[in-house]
Amino acid sequence: MHATAPDYPAPAEERQAPINLASLGRVRVLRALNETPALSRAELVERTGLARATVGSVVDDLIDAGLVRKTTDIDAGLIRRTGDPNAASGVRTGRPPQLLSLEPRAAYAVGLDVGHDHVRAVLTDLAGTVQWDSSAQLDVDGAPESALSTAVTLLDRAMDELEVERERILGLGLGIACPVDKTTGALHAEGIMPGWVGVQPAQELGRRTGLEVRIINDANAGVLAERRFGVARDCANVVYIRLSSGIGAGVMCDGRMLLGHGGLAGELGHVTVEPNGAVCRCGNRGCLETVASPPAIAALLTRSWGRPVSTGELTELLRTGDRGTLRAVEDAGDAVGRALAFTAMLLNPELIVVGGDLAAAGEALFAPMRRSLMRSTMTSHAEPLRIVPGSLGDDAGVRGAAALVLATAPERLGQAPLLAA
Ligand SMILES: [Zn+2]
Repeated sequence: MHATAPDYPAPAEERQAPINLASLGRVRVLRALNETPALSRAELVERTGLARATVGSVVDDLIDAGLVRKTTDIDAGLIRRTGDPNAASGVRTGRPPQLLSLEPRAAYAVGLDVGHDHVRAVLTDLAGTVQWDSSAQLDVDGAPESALSTAVTLLDRAMDELEVERERILGLGLGIACPVDKTTGALHAEGIMPGWVGVQPAQELGRRTGLEVRIINDANAGVLAERRFGVARDCANVVYIRLSSGIGAGVMCDGRMLLGHGGLAGELGHVTVEPNGAVCRCGNRGCLETVASPPAIAALLTRSWGRPVSTGELTELLRTGDRGTLRAVEDAGDAVGRALAFTAMLLNPELIVVGGDLAAAGEALFAPMRRSLMRSTMTSHAEPLRIVPGSLGDDAGVRGAAALVLATAPERLGQAPLLAA
């Protein structure tokens, strides 16, 4: 549990904001409830380090402001098991409400997933539960303007259909299939999203929506989502690898996102796994992406069969046990395992989560991946290590982008003047 350190660093201007002592108590209580969805007053005293009387008055203020609500023991059990304050049974028996949780509808967050061929938007409540979800297919790589205006249209529709006012939205998290500079939010789009070179999507969306925008690479969004809502809950050392048309990894080390000097850590798609392999879009040769991405596998089959094979066909080819497809996926799994072996020896994760389109290949991918990873790591590292498919599937990117905003909720709500519910 990370009591004070956020998962993902705040922008520089936010870090330098002066602390208002009057709001510090509110922020601490909200932060504790943001991390653990149902707590008693005694547990809040323990977790916040505040005096019992202070916790009492802060909690009363937060309840009056509609940010916190009392929860029954029965509901608290459900909430703790699911991590979701919306999981209320409606049963009103047993002891009177003694536990506290965030009021999910007190505020909202926007998550955006900008991939190579789609823009998807969700509006989540304060608990991260998706309340609205829609997407549009378009050529994102070549058309940033149309992608950005689609995002704005989706957001307007979400607010309209859910009847949520802009003031209730904490901010917009933008997950994008491109490396992102952690200081400036600029994209390293050369060779990755060619039309986006020089585009500042976070600034542009901030200007068009009036919302505070936080930008994150899609693999980093994936690890945030799986950790907060998915299979990596309660894991402090996690590697999430996304095997889609682009390959990248998001890393949590001791409960903190590992970003590296420029924010570019985790670009596993561009480590060389075949020294004499195909030339990659990044300009190098034999990158993991040229072997283990669905387009690379489809291209391999296209070449050998002399007819176009689409990535959409791969699932069906695997299901029917096509030998060529199985072999290509096995080689992909072997290469991913080799790249992950270095990662495991360097970072010693407890869990590797595999997401992206290729994760659907199941054991055809996972068996060779585990085998080659185990072959190239020490037992001490490999034995406790679990390698599992992500539990959020396609939702990981967009929910992680929203989670980036939700992580700021305690500070945003605790420091704002409290509005009566
Ligand atoms: Zn490359």
